[in-house]
Amino acid sequence: MTRREAHLMWTRLLAMRSVTRRINKLECRSETGARVTDQLDLFVVLVVIYATECVAWMRRSGLALVRGARRWHVTSPNAALGNGEAGLAFGSLLPTSTLFVVHHPDLAWSIDGIVAHDSLPLDPAHRAPLPGPRVPYAEAATARLDGARLQLGNLWIAGSPGLARRIKHDLDTLAALDDNARAAALDARMAAAFDTDEITRRLERFYRVSGWLDYLTTALFALSFLAAPIAVVQRGLSATWRPLFALFVALWLINVIAFFVAHRRLYPKAPGDRWTRTLSLTFVPLSAMRSRDHLARPLLDGCDPLVAAVALAGTSAHPIAHRVLRDLHAPVMDEAPEVAATRREHRARLLAHLEPTLTRLGVDCAAALAPPSRDTDAVGYCPRCQQQYLSLDTTCDDCRETPLTAFDVG
Ligand SMILES: [Zn+2]
Repeated sequence: MTRREAHLMWTRLLAMRSVTRRINKLECRSETGARVTDQLDLFVVLVVIYATECVAWMRRSGLALVRGARRWHVTSPNAALGNGEAGLAFGSLLPTSTLFVVHHPDLAWSIDGIVAHDSLPLDPAHRAPLPGPRVPYAEAATARLDGARLQLGNLWIAGSPGLARRIKHDLDTLAALDDNARAAALDARMAAAFDTDEITRRLERFYRVSGWLDYLTTALFALSFLAAPIAVVQRGLSATWRPLFALFVALWLINVIAFFVAHRRLYPKAPGDRWTRTLSLTFVPLSAMRSRDHLARPLLDGCDPLVAAVALAGTSAHPIAHRVLRDLHAPVMDEAPEVAATRREHRARLLAHLEPTLTRLGVDCAAALAPPSRDTDAVGYCPRCQQQYLSLDTTCDDCRETPLTAFDVG
């Protein structure tokens, strides 16, 4: 659990304390008859707490994949709700929906070392920091695990506990290899991140393991937001709250146990995360309504976010793929020579794996590099962001002075 998630959990705990006080207040008034506004007030507070369970705090360099009732859609952290590094991504309010967070570590890997902050434009609104210095593997292997992040000197990398553990493992492995073996290992590492069969296998296992949680979370949702309000309106609070509360507690406790068992089957190497999240569900009962969602969040750790988005959301993710392909073909490279060399080697390897994968998934990679539809009087465009210009005697300001490409006006 990240610090931000811990903060969110604490906020929910305070909100639950407020809910408990309001219930006590209503119970005291039930002898003389609670006011409708008090009951409505409590219902609104419950809805707000539930809504906070449907969002995820994530780094801006990743993508969130939301599985709704019938299809997938891709989203990025909200531009306003967050800071420069991370923000809130919104899932669906439906109890059966799930939100998968796929982080991108923003690392360039070469035979000689790694470079942090080598980001891809998955979210066009995200202004990524400039690439860091090149760090040799002997030094990178000393990185320290700290929850969801890896600390390497002044650099903080990763974004989720699972991804941080994977990167730490890869750094330790690569540091022990010679150059030839390291090149092969880097190729194997990238191929594993782009393996769509692995994405399918993980999802199939998730839906198989979490089937009971689907029923339990839906039952809790229906009880809290449909059955209980209807019963209270029709028969009054004093006559209904005890059986409703007993049923809620029973479903809630079964839900917590089912979550713990499912988490152990899906993530056997993450006992710390399991206990933390189980405690969260235990102390914040409304979290139990989204327990399956919490189980889904780290499922695709280590998978490439773009490949996962295209594989699951189909054509709606193609514009993201086109943007990334343009960035890979026309990268901004104005750093120190060794940093640029590492980024160039990484991007060459990335393109070699990415283009065949995207083509197999139905993306028209050639169309990504085609000129944009020409505006009147425009004579050139930026090959990276496709902004159009009236003169070729300039460079693209948005892309750190990328040279322009002239329109072929025949
Ligand atoms: Zn540009």
